[in-house]
Amino acid sequence: MRLFDAHVHLSDAEYSGHIEELVADAKNAGVAALVTNSMDLKTCLSDLKLAEKYGGLVYPALGIHPWNVNVLREGELEETIDLIGKQRGVVKAIGEIGLDAKYETDWEKQVMVFDKMLHLAETLDLPVIIHSRGSTDKVIDLLPSYRVRLVLLHWFSYQLTALNRAMEKGYFITEGPPAVYSSGIREIIEKVPLTHLLTETDGPVIYYKVPFKGQLTKPSFIRNVVEAIAEIKKMQVEDVAQQLAENFENFFSIKLE
Ligand SMILES: [Zn+2]
Repeated sequence: MRLFDAHVHLSDAEYSGHIEELVADAKNAGVAALVTNSMDLKTCLSDLKLAEKYGGLVYPALGIHPWNVNVLREGELEETIDLIGKQRGVVKAIGEIGLDAKYETDWEKQVMVFDKMLHLAETLDLPVIIHSRGSTDKVIDLLPSYRVRLVLLHWFSYQLTALNRAMEKGYFITEGPPAVYSSGIREIIEKVPLTHLLTETDGPVIYYKVPFKGQLTKPSFIRNVVEAIAEIKKMQVEDVAQQLAENFENFFSIKLE
């Protein structure tokens, strides 16, 4: 089985000192690719270093997260855009970007930064990884104004009407460890065509339910996620993993070894 984590934050401070352990865990568990998502300029730089160090396993998605728009220092937005442009050869997506209606950052500024990130994805012809907490409908309304190649709505947990709208537009979604225990997420997985689903951990986010309880979030959790998807879809685990791997390869233009 070729497994992957399409959305993780390896440069997060919670993971500092644990990277070797996470890489070993990924290899042991058959996780062949980790897409590390940045939050700001500092994590863009750190994610690029990790991708260089662990070539063939770690791939960078670079961008500015809506939670960080209020703490951008002067010139940081422009510098980040400049850096991502120069690294076009190694960057696999623009992410994590988006809008968060529940987070206390200036909404106008979130919209402005999101617009810049989407324009960057257009210019560089890269897929986008979107955070849309409390704002999925708004994001789906905005996206058609941009010529973005491929769209991934990460940790999709919005109404099923929004899922239908996203599927009509050919967007992808990711789901992670809650696939094992959350009835809402399991319902979304049941409804989403398997051809538009990818797996993630969103680590270092911590999951408090069994079997993840008390553990640092690791790439090996992906195996539990794939098993849960197979159970929900009433399919063989191997067949699910095969389709997911194809989705991943097409979305990111990364060959899973
Ligand atoms: Zn994330």
